[in-house]
Amino acid sequence: MGSVKESAVGFIGLGAMGRPMAGHLASKLPSQTRIYVYDVVESVVDEVCKEFPDKVLKGSSAKDVAEKSETIITMVPEGAHVKSVYLDPRNGICQTDVSGKLLIDCSTIDTATSHLVKDHIAEHFPTASFYDAPVSGGVVGAVKGTIAFFLGAADTDPNLPHMTSLLQMMGKQIIPCGGPTFGLAAKLSNNYLSGIIAIACSEAMDMGMRSGLDPRVLAKVYAAGTAQNTICDRFCPVPGVYPEAPSSGGYKEGFKVQLMRKDFNLAVEMAKRVGSKNVLGEVGLETYTSAMNDPKCRDLDSRVVYRYLGGDEDWEAKHNGK
Ligand code: NAD
Repeated sequence: MGSVKESAVGFIGLGAMGRPMAGHLASKLPSQTRIYVYDVVESVVDEVCKEFPDKVLKGSSAKDVAEKSETIITMVPEGAHVKSVYLDPRNGICQTDVSGKLLIDCSTIDTATSHLVKDHIAEHFPTASFYDAPVSGGVVGAVKGTIAFFLGAADTDPNLPHMTSLLQMMGKQIIPCGGPTFGLAAKLSNNYLSGIIAIACSEAMDMGMRSGLDPRVLAKVYAAGTAQNTICDRFCPVPGVYPEAPSSGGYKEGFKVQLMRKDFNLAVEMAKRVGSKNVLGEVGLETYTSAMNDPKCRDLDSRVVYRYLGGDEDWEAKHNGK
């Protein structure tokens, strides 16, 4: 296992995920290490600097952060933002000499943009290293420091021990996925599968319940049978079946339906690009797009797809009263 020896680490993108991740670095990196942070929203930068005085310092741009840091982590929403953070002709990271530096992008974006950035860096700064490292585990995981990193690197990569030490300050599992953009491909295929299971689970529950079954019985049946899956066991789309599922708390505190739609769309695009036959992709995408635009569902956990499909949320009174 490598140790973290940098005198300065940069963190760009202090949103729902990035802010707690940067906070973990601030609390866990050696006291002499400085963390330079930047976000287009200046107030959030000021808040983080105030929270960790002396250790976290304000960067004036992505370029400025890259100039002052040996390792730079980025966590922004979409491919267009990643492109701007790295390649903006005035203030992008690549406007400074990043030779020999380590650049880790944790955003969930399309593999084409990640390739573009990697190729640009390889061409202009051959000794710099750029990796995709999207995460899973949500905001709660980012706060608790339990997220998983899907790293676009081979398990023989010489930077792996060092990256593992650094990323483990923010998360639990670091999975090297084999090579550049494989972290993203793994993350997108995972979210595609998880999104499809949530729709299938909602439909299966709904047809069983409309046939008269108690959803708690259905959940037991799926868990014992060939349909067993984590969405049904721990994130059951039907409220009240699994008490800790976001659905049981009004679909709050979960993975927003808009984010699921974004990742699902990226997965469908990836499937097309690599020639993967994909019969569920278009219907899944249509479902999440419509759910995202439905005022009853927007901003809620993506398993709200059960509500979108017209599932009964007041089943408890019916069954308990029997
Ligand atoms: P967010 O919108 O809360 O935060 C993104 C931050 O990036 C914002 O503070 C924004 O101001 C900043 N930003 C945008 N463009 C910038 C630029 N050019 N320069 C500097 N800063 C810029 O998003 P989030 O929820 O933190 O998600 C970040 C990434 O992580 C996304 O790709 C998302 O899909 C992925 N992700 C999110 C979750 C989740 O549950 N929220 C879970 C896993 C992965």
